[in-house]
Amino acid sequence: MVEDRPPGPILKPPVFHVDDTTPEVVQSVLLERGWDKFDKGEQNVEDWNLYWRTSSFRMTEHINVKPWQRLNHHPGTTQLTRQDHLARHLKHMKRMYGTPLYEFIPLTFIMPNDYNKFVAEYFREKHVLGAKHSYWICKPAELSHRRGIIIFSDIKGLLFDDTYIVQKYICNPLLVGRYKCDLRIYVCVTGFKPLTIYIYQEGLVRFATEKFDLSNLQNNYAHLTNSSINKSGVSYEKIKEVIGHGCKWTLSRFFSYLRSWDVDDLLLWQKITQVVILTVLAIAPLVPFAANCFELFGFDILIDDNLKPWLLEVNFSPALSIDCSADISVKRKLIHDTIELIYLQGLRNERTGCRDGAKGSHSVSLTKLDVGRFNKVCSALPCESLLQFTSRTFKDESAVKKAIKICPENKHASQPREMTSRKKDLLLSTREAPKTKPKLKGRRSPHKKIIPFMSLIQSRADKTSISPCVPLDNGKVPGLQAGNFVLIFPFNEATFGASRNGLNVRRIIQKLQKLKNKQHSHMLEMETKR
Ligand code: ADP
Repeated sequence: MVEDRPPGPILKPPVFHVDDTTPEVVQSVLLERGWDKFDKGEQNVEDWNLYWRTSSFRMTEHINVKPWQRLNHHPGTTQLTRQDHLARHLKHMKRMYGTPLYEFIPLTFIMPNDYNKFVAEYFREKHVLGAKHSYWICKPAELSHRRGIIIFSDIKGLLFDDTYIVQKYICNPLLVGRYKCDLRIYVCVTGFKPLTIYIYQEGLVRFATEKFDLSNLQNNYAHLTNSSINKSGVSYEKIKEVIGHGCKWTLSRFFSYLRSWDVDDLLLWQKITQVVILTVLAIAPLVPFAANCFELFGFDILIDDNLKPWLLEVNFSPALSIDCSADISVKRKLIHDTIELIYLQGLRNERTGCRDGAKGSHSVSLTKLDVGRFNKVCSALPCESLLQFTSRTFKDESAVKKAIKICPENKHASQPREMTSRKKDLLLSTREAPKTKPKLKGRRSPHKKIIPFMSLIQSRADKTSISPCVPLDNGKVPGLQAGNFVLIFPFNEATFGASRNGLNVRRIIQKLQKLKNKQHSHMLEMETKR
């Protein structure tokens, strides 16, 4: 029997495996961190530690993964990343839990099966709206990159073949300088059993490069925010009102812009975080167990002029190409932080239940080995977050206190920020969007991190009840933060408990609903105080 042991002498640098689809930035970050690239001619077939590729792995590759190896995809995640599957799962959740929590996906019909239902809804709405238009978008269920996307108001404009979805078009998007945008939010699920979700506090905002105009639905440069199209538009290079040159901002710039208009960016972030958890929950019980893998998702979120986040799509292997300065500042660090997240903390779904019977003790030594390697490899790197992680327990208060110190923005979580209705109107009306970049109010300096991890998804009013300092049973919890990744699930004692020994989705939904109610009453309280 072949013994499962890490290949080669312990101090050898870790080895990454690639194929033709592995993004350039992943390779260059790993080389920068001191990794070696796998070489078939020189290395044994199993002598690699991380295989990162764009397409998913076959089940046999998952089954044969060795304790020292990691794969960048988890089986079963296309259940989220195909638009028709996503719509189906979210609809099911809505039915099961009968909750308005799942009202974050625009009304969706899967074609051709739902054609009759769509036609009925189209005419029902037409009847209600009378002379007013209703707007729909028809897009391929998989891998569209704007291939064949149609926005229409008249059903005669609907054309599709193959599997398409028809969705309510969000026609009141939050505009920045009259341009539509959506957010690319990075989410790393380091394990589905038990469910462990991290959100990345930095991200990208993608802009349309022509002004939003509902009277011309054919203009992709005004209605679609994909950079792949906007890059080729004539307005890409122009300096545009408020957004400037190009078609991307970093998420921190966007949040800083919102804050300058007194928008409650923290509340918005909490809502986004809830959308992410609720979405992943929809498939978590269905994905098969697989050890030593993780998934980096790209959530596309559109914010409307009521500051409601809408989930448009979840991307498998989100684009990692570097096209502009926003990409440079976000994507390189994203990869560094992903490596830290999966290695320095160790994967939590290690070898339990794996086919060769290797148990916890083996995985502990593996984790130590990784940390040992990384201490050596990474000590020369400018990654300030490197020192922040250990495998903590919620009981380890000193670690938590230390983590709070590293996240000084946390104090903002308790500072109520209100949006005056005048400013709100200015910012949020699609017609009255501010024409120039507003001056910062100076009440809060723009900070690097968008949200303190301690706030997670609770409302400020609920702040004390959710702290990870709350003592739990002796169960280990994942690290709270790795670089810009923050743990968002499990987010408190109850959800920690409800995600061990099988996922108790109903209980988790109840907790999320409770938080949402508190958020809501807090908002009402703030409104009445004004
Ligand atoms: P792709 O795979 O091409 O990214 P998406 O579903 O993300 O496909 O759609 C492309 C773009 O179309 C989005 O980035 C967004 O700007 C716009 N879009 C998609 N769905 C909607 C919708 N329901 N309402 C408003 N805009 C939408």
